[in-house]
Amino acid sequence: MSGFVFTEKPITIQSGDGPYLYGADGTEYLDFGASYACTPLGHAHPAVTEAIQEQAAALTYVQGSYPVDVRTEIYGKLAAVAPGGLDNVWLCNSGTEANEAAMKFARAATGDSKVVATKRAFHGRTMGALALTWKQQYRAPFEPLPGGVEFVDYGDGEALAGAVDEDTAAVFLEPIQGEGGIHPASAEYLRTAREVTDEAGAALVFDEIQTGLGRTGTLWACEGAGVTPDVLTTAKGVASGLPMGATVVADWVAQDSGDHGSTFSGGPVVCAAANATLETIVDENLAGHAADVGAYLRDSLSTVADDQDLPVREVRGEGLLVGVEVKRGANRVLKNLALEHSVLALPAGRTVVRLLPPLTVEKHHADAVVDAFAEVVG
Ligand SMILES: *Cc1c(COP(=O)(O)O)cnc(C)c1O
Repeated sequence: MSGFVFTEKPITIQSGDGPYLYGADGTEYLDFGASYACTPLGHAHPAVTEAIQEQAAALTYVQGSYPVDVRTEIYGKLAAVAPGGLDNVWLCNSGTEANEAAMKFARAATGDSKVVATKRAFHGRTMGALALTWKQQYRAPFEPLPGGVEFVDYGDGEALAGAVDEDTAAVFLEPIQGEGGIHPASAEYLRTAREVTDEAGAALVFDEIQTGLGRTGTLWACEGAGVTPDVLTTAKGVASGLPMGATVVADWVAQDSGDHGSTFSGGPVVCAAANATLETIVDENLAGHAADVGAYLRDSLSTVADDQDLPVREVRGEGLLVGVEVKRGANRVLKNLALEHSVLALPAGRTVVRLLPPLTVEKHHADAVVDAFAEVVG
């Protein structure tokens, strides 16, 4: 895996502080990629650092069958923040594993095997999750993948209703497609997904690995639409960059979810980092902050694009999950942002510049990025 910055001019990162990263040569970078949303509190947040240090000194690992306070605590915290009625938590070590578990649990609980996913979807790269991921570049070398997956156009309620039937175990959706180009679903589409899965007795799975934890302005993107899934997956920033994923499921799915396990899941150090992360996100209302700063960032980008007649097709997203579709390649923009303005961002496909900074960024950081963007694109 290599991004453009790393193939053309390696940027060696040595340390971080809040929204900033520092290169080996002393360069200060403004981090508007948050390493794919893995650092919601920014870098080296004192609450997370302290929690990791304390836990590492007390107990680094013990097998999951012995209850440990920090693990019990994260089970409770995740159940408490998850959308209503989802309070059975299964921990793992990454996003793809959280989706693997979701697929296994849905199949076991329904006794069915068919899964419906969407075009442009990204759900991970292990074999099961890869079978739900759309991009041919990721899939083709590894075929045949597990079968029984049907892809429908994202956002098309009729197509979804047509694909879901009594043999369907699950529908997998990202409430906002991330990797696929920052495409938000309408509330109506998510409600249709809820209705057709209810009717068919299938599990509705929301992959909130990129959209969750306050990024879109609410703790979970599905809250905005008022739709609760049967299964929700999270990972990325949940433990501030230490490896943790979680699959949170409704009772009817948990009751008959089969046998599944993972040796490292819920390790004490990772749990301590996750407890500190979730506590900070909730206590400091970083979802509300993301809504404010995100709206400001999107408005500023749209305004500057209009005023300066920049080659920008669209600014979209929710909260601090922002996509700017440019008329020419995104990679050139990203390279110049990094090398000329020390602003780090991400692509989402060939033409979309993806901005997903730590949730703690302020409006003046947004201003700096908008200025740099206007100069690079203009
Ligand atoms: C990153 C991502 C995944 C995969 O997570 P990994 O931890 O890389 O396995 C799955 N779904 C979505 C929406 C993601 O953004």
